[in-house]
Amino acid sequence: MFGKNNRKLTKYDVNHLYNQNKDSIHEFNVQFVPKAFTIVILALILGILLSFFRPTMKQTLPIYLMALLLSSILLALTKLKQLRDRPLIVAYAFVFEMFTFVTYLSIFKFPDRAASSALIFFVVVPLLYVDKSWRVNTFLFSMYLGHLVVSFIFKDMFVATADFVNTTVSVVLGMLFGRTFYLNRLETFEIKKQLTKEKETDFLTGLYNRRKLYHDIEELSMQPNHNVNIMMIDIDFFKEYNDKYGHVNGDLCLTNFSNLLKDMAEKYRIKFYRFGGEEFVGVNTNTNQDYFISIAKEISEEVKVMKELKETLTVSIGISKTSLSKIDDLVDQADKALYKAKKMGRNRIEII
Ligand code: GH3
Ligand code: MG
Ligand code: MG
Repeated sequence: MFGKNNRKLTKYDVNHLYNQNKDSIHEFNVQFVPKAFTIVILALILGILLSFFRPTMKQTLPIYLMALLLSSILLALTKLKQLRDRPLIVAYAFVFEMFTFVTYLSIFKFPDRAASSALIFFVVVPLLYVDKSWRVNTFLFSMYLGHLVVSFIFKDMFVATADFVNTTVSVVLGMLFGRTFYLNRLETFEIKKQLTKEKETDFLTGLYNRRKLYHDIEELSMQPNHNVNIMMIDIDFFKEYNDKYGHVNGDLCLTNFSNLLKDMAEKYRIKFYRFGGEEFVGVNTNTNQDYFISIAKEISEEVKVMKELKETLTVSIGISKTSLSKIDDLVDQADKALYKAKKMGRNRIEII
């Protein structure tokens, strides 16, 4: 949908990419906004240090200190629980504060000079966070207009005209850089998402793979008070089916069965993984075991009426008890239960 042939992204693609990657964008902002602001704050500190070597130091120092104080307060706010999850609110507040700062410097402190800090400001702002282009640009353009209006009101006509030329160039540059940065980030988020998906998905069936199972189990085992149910499903006499009807039909059978599991996953909030070959694992948290067993029963009944198969198939299912203290053992236990089901004649459910 993107990247291929270096095709230009259409407006639809961009919005689609944004919506598809909302969570990653949010997470990025949560991480990146405080960092970006820290860099700006360091730049302010540098400005303060440099101001000691300037003749205008006495004039600018108080406003620099004020900006530093306000910025530090805003940075501290990003650590607040209520605002941590709303990085853009703080981001826009911060940008507005910086705008007031550069405008004050440009218009009131140095009315006889063309704006300088404001030029950097318009270019840097769109790089401080990731948000929809139209929102960043509207904000940027409003600030540009605001700066221009006060510049023409309070500055000499000649200086204000220079401001007009300079800030126009810098706001256009800011928008262009911002757009490039934005598209780049969106593509990176998308690539990351696709890679993760590929890493976690079984190629043939589209179910989660074994790697994802171990990853999820590790995560679950770190949560306290977990109540986890695990079932291991194995198709009975599948080698025979393969030998009789060929590998292609065997594959078709595996994908059909996986589709059945996907339906079940949606219906019962169970995650299914292809453990390997014709073995599958279902994991569910926070349901009682009887309910879990009834789902296993439903699966074993549904398999028997699966369409598009050369002949009726059955499955054996092993379920592990939830009372085990170590979650890693649950897969082993389910495997043992499955082995028992096989030994006891197949087409049945066993619980250990
Ligand atoms: P049991 O009832 O004891 O489970 O017998 P089984 O024949 O199902 O088990 P066994 O482990 O002997 O054979 C599993 C077979 O699954 C072997 C292989 O032919 C088949 N198989 C494994 N992976 C794939 C696959 O990706 N595609 C196809 N078509 N077959 C596969
Ligand atoms: Mg089998
Ligand atoms: Mg097997």
